[in-house]
Amino acid sequence: MTGRAVALSAVAGANRGALRRHNLGTVLRAIHLAGPISRAELTDLTGLNRSTIGDLAARLGSLGLVREVGATDRGAPGRPSILLECSPDGASVLAVDITVKRLRMARVGLGGQVLRRHEVPLTDRHRSPGEVGRLLREGADLLRPRDVGSVGVGVGVAVPGIVRPTDGRVHAAPNLGWRDVPLGSLAATALAAPVTVGNDADLGAWAEHLRGAGTHAGNLVFVAADIGVGGGVIVAGSLLRGHRGFAGEIGHIPVNPAGRPCRCGATGCWETEIGLPALARAAQRAGATGLPELLALAGVEPERVRQALQEPTHWLAVGLATLVAAYDPEVIILGGVLPQWWEVSRVEIVDAVAGTLAGRAGPARLCVPVLGADATLMGAAETAFSTLLADPEGCLASHPAELGGTVSVHAAPVLLPSGA
Ligand SMILES: [Zn+2]
Repeated sequence: MTGRAVALSAVAGANRGALRRHNLGTVLRAIHLAGPISRAELTDLTGLNRSTIGDLAARLGSLGLVREVGATDRGAPGRPSILLECSPDGASVLAVDITVKRLRMARVGLGGQVLRRHEVPLTDRHRSPGEVGRLLREGADLLRPRDVGSVGVGVGVAVPGIVRPTDGRVHAAPNLGWRDVPLGSLAATALAAPVTVGNDADLGAWAEHLRGAGTHAGNLVFVAADIGVGGGVIVAGSLLRGHRGFAGEIGHIPVNPAGRPCRCGATGCWETEIGLPALARAAQRAGATGLPELLALAGVEPERVRQALQEPTHWLAVGLATLVAAYDPEVIILGGVLPQWWEVSRVEIVDAVAGTLAGRAGPARLCVPVLGADATLMGAAETAFSTLLADPEGCLASHPAELGGTVSVHAAPVLLPSGA
């Protein structure tokens, strides 16, 4: 064989190896997101032929990632199909959601099941990056993978701020009082594990797109309103990041030039009109001690509550109409404190959105998160699984247990083929 033929054969071999790794990841991702699922459904979903699916599923079984369960007679006549699902003893990740008021952590198994949770309040005293690092280490100890029988393959962290995708550095998180914090390396050092860091609303959008209210929508906006207001925008199946990672900072869209100063330094940002402080002011004007008391009245005195929320509802509608005009989404998912508000003021909100140009062409569907308060946490888990799903064999070979110390990039998540 000539040198050239040997070289070509090596390239073909490398390509075959890369193709097999890719296909193994594709099948695992499909079982992770859609399982329990039959081999026939996997064939439809991935476009791979039946014998390839059988071979890859067997390999995933031998790696301990996938197992056979029960049988289904759904779909075609004939013999019931065995279903495949992710093994509860397979891989898991640590998901972290840093909010202004609490640190939420969970060990999440492949397949998306929350195996164990841990939560601590964050007060002013505990909100510094160094203190959060300490709390992360304590929480990770309580949620060790070996205690739930799985191999830890990474950590995903959600933070309410602008994150540099390459290394998880937080450019700014105004509501945490953070500026230029190297959260990726801080968390990787504290946890001695590979860490991905993402914006909380981006991760909420991503989780709802993969597993929640936006599963079949290629274009969606996830609005997360709490003390601040964040947004995640999915365009044609991909997360919109923008030139510097600022895309989706919808809480800082200027809506009211005559409004209040915002923590970002500007005036009249959307979050100053619809965030929790604005809602608390509306509640007090109505004689309620706070928003929880006001919303609790909604079942008894809906008109009083609607009146109290009239002004914030106007600004909520202005912002949503802006999002419809800018992004033409198929779905807008209303997260954070918005679901209860939506129940009270649905008519006004729908009218405002339907009045936009894109809205008149066909209204965007407004809904609440299917994953509820876990959307962000699940999004963090999904990014932490991305290395495993890209190359299951390679990832497991490098993670016999929780180890590392490297910081992996918050890479663009990979999608299942459409219809998944
Ligand atoms: Zn602002």
